[in-house]
Amino acid sequence: MSSQQAMISMENVNKWYGDFHVLKDVNLTIKKGEKVVICGPSGSGKSTTIRCLNHLEKFQQGNIVINGTELIEDVKVVRHIRSQVGMVFQHFNLFPHLTVLDNLVLAPTWVHKKPRKEAIETAMYYLERVKIANQAKKYPNQLSGGQQQRVAIARCLCINPEIMLFDEPTSALDPEMVSEVLDVMIELANEGITMVCVTHEMGFAKKVADRVIFMDQGQIIEENDPETFFEQPESDRLQLFLDQIL
Ligand code: ADP
Ligand code: MG
Repeated sequence: MSSQQAMISMENVNKWYGDFHVLKDVNLTIKKGEKVVICGPSGSGKSTTIRCLNHLEKFQQGNIVINGTELIEDVKVVRHIRSQVGMVFQHFNLFPHLTVLDNLVLAPTWVHKKPRKEAIETAMYYLERVKIANQAKKYPNQLSGGQQQRVAIARCLCINPEIMLFDEPTSALDPEMVSEVLDVMIELANEGITMVCVTHEMGFAKKVADRVIFMDQGQIIEENDPETFFEQPESDRLQLFLDQIL
């Protein structure tokens, strides 16, 4: 597949934090509409990998192409790429001093220059979608973790992204709130958005992933369809990891 047809293409990406070689020749091609789950031990470079995709981290070698645009260090290019990539973090990262509604309206009005009225309509539409429209006037700290994460997802959707990146979106949640967030993510996945999700929720991976990737020590060690990945892991490292988490 040429990188033009790919929604995400990483070619021989290498990154160092000082002397520490954190990403080692990462090659990853993701098609439009594909759902990819990334798992692996803590510190293996999962967050760094997806943070490179929207330039939250710089990389020193290799190429990244997002929906036909090569990611280079240029303000306009980075802005263009970020307008197509939504990111959901472990700790929600909502603005605490803004209401739920204003969290959703901020980027569309300031960055994308949408009229406020239109931005509010879009925001309310997505708040309905994540079943939280009745909380629009509240502040983030008045909501549960599961509710805050659904707000964070709705906030991403307001920019109508091509790609959604999730970095362990449920790992800071109390267990009883995990499924309300996963349900929203499953719905999104079924609508055809391109999705890359770092998670250890293997039920989610089995249900929605086209491909599961295992990273260890800054490298992609193994990738496969979920069934093969879980039932017939090829490497000892993946087998060991699965034994630990399943
Ligand atoms: P994961 O998400 O798989 O747990 P990360 O991508 O967060 O892994 O981190 C990979 C490695 O890089 C870890 O060893 C981590 O300590 C290190 N690291 C992450 N961010 C930084 C940073 N800003 N400076 C130095 N080292 C970092
Ligand atoms: Mg991480």
